[in-house]
Amino acid sequence: MPLIAIDGPGGAGKSSVAAALAARLGVERLDTGAMYRAVTWCALQRGIATDDELRLGELARELHLAVAERVSVNGEDVSEAIRSPEVDAAVGAVSAQAAVRRALVARQRAWVATHHSGVLEGRDIGTVVIPDAPVKVFLTATPEERARRRAADQATPTGPRDVAVVAAEIGARDRLDSTREVSPLIPADDAVVIDSTGRSIESIVDEIAALAGAEAGSAPEAGLRPVRPISRRVRWFYFVCRGIAVSAGHIFMHGPIVGAENLPRSGPFLVAPLHRSDIDFLIVARITRRRMRFIAKSGIFVNRQFNWLIETLGAFPVNRRATDREAFNRALEILIAGEPLVIFPEGTRNTGPTIGETREGAAYLALRAGVPLVPVGLAGTDTALPRGKVRPRFARIACVVGEPIMTGVEHHAGEGRFRIPRSAVHALTDELRRAIQQLSDEAAGIVADR
Ligand code: C5P
Repeated sequence: MPLIAIDGPGGAGKSSVAAALAARLGVERLDTGAMYRAVTWCALQRGIATDDELRLGELARELHLAVAERVSVNGEDVSEAIRSPEVDAAVGAVSAQAAVRRALVARQRAWVATHHSGVLEGRDIGTVVIPDAPVKVFLTATPEERARRRAADQATPTGPRDVAVVAAEIGARDRLDSTREVSPLIPADDAVVIDSTGRSIESIVDEIAALAGAEAGSAPEAGLRPVRPISRRVRWFYFVCRGIAVSAGHIFMHGPIVGAENLPRSGPFLVAPLHRSDIDFLIVARITRRRMRFIAKSGIFVNRQFNWLIETLGAFPVNRRATDREAFNRALEILIAGEPLVIFPEGTRNTGPTIGETREGAAYLALRAGVPLVPVGLAGTDTALPRGKVRPRFARIACVVGEPIMTGVEHHAGEGRFRIPRSAVHALTDELRRAIQQLSDEAAGIVADR
């Protein structure tokens, strides 16, 4: 999923759209306006003049700033305080200071460097912060609509604020933002301008998600649900369970994992191994410390605790009566959320050293999500745990990870969306089958060559 830049004037709906979009895509968002507001709040607290560039720049560089659901400055929660009329009145002047912008743009780029994907909203995201963002939106609305929204947002217990007063304030800040020397508020040349007047947040989110999906090489399926990002607690739990399972597996299965360095270090990818045994999952889990997701029959999801356990280990249920489309959409949601996924392209456990009939789902999914497809060869797992057996036997195994096959789709002009040509799916499936066979032959050679 690419980085998405949303710029525009106050009251255009950026925050609501960015929050809903990030939730839809399962990515994080950065509200850069909150950063300028936090610096302004702190400057007002410390009595620093709004034109004292030197001290403001120092403040922007040095204060401890945490901007997420809540905003805190040096450990103090200022989420509400930064929206006060005093901050509103001063933020335009503070954010016009070049030293402040330099410091905050550096922090925003650091966020981008650690997140790789996400939604950033502000005034200069597409022009200055990430000019190479693949998706840029300039969100706007008529001045009347923006003033109405802001007046409602800033309602006090005695009622909404006067729309005419708010319109005058917004007009003044727009002028400041648009005419300042550094990073003025202007749409990037390659931004898609969206007028939110009279439109629902949902419809704007649909439009931007479609742009983002197209950019990632996929038009999102209707009704895709967000995938909750893996939490630190779950990551640790997975790490421990994987450690135990891998050590237990070593008792029965000795043999190398070759080529693990071929795996992309971050972001989503689709791992496509040969399938010969139930323990293939365990071997494939050895290739990376990252938790990979895989499809499990809904029949094994028996109670809440067990479901939690296997979902934490990466399984996601597919309804017993699920259509292929449901499974496909769930897999696509997971890849769009940036997680790696394992799919056995043969669809079932086969026997023998030759790859069986290879289904086209893995190739199609990789093309739709625009993610690298990683072929994996296996050997020896059917000796360790043959089909129909429940007790593993001592065996030598080998697992060879191939180079990722990079996927991308051409845009079929005039069709209004990205279409994956059947010929591309056939060709990729062929390439994948050949690669898995070659890697499995290599693995078999390693097992034989003890
Ligand atoms: O988006 P919000 O209204 O919270 O932004 C507050 C102010 O912060 C803007 O009016 C603008 O002066 C400044 N700002 C900026 N550059 C950004 C984000 C906000 O100058 N990227």
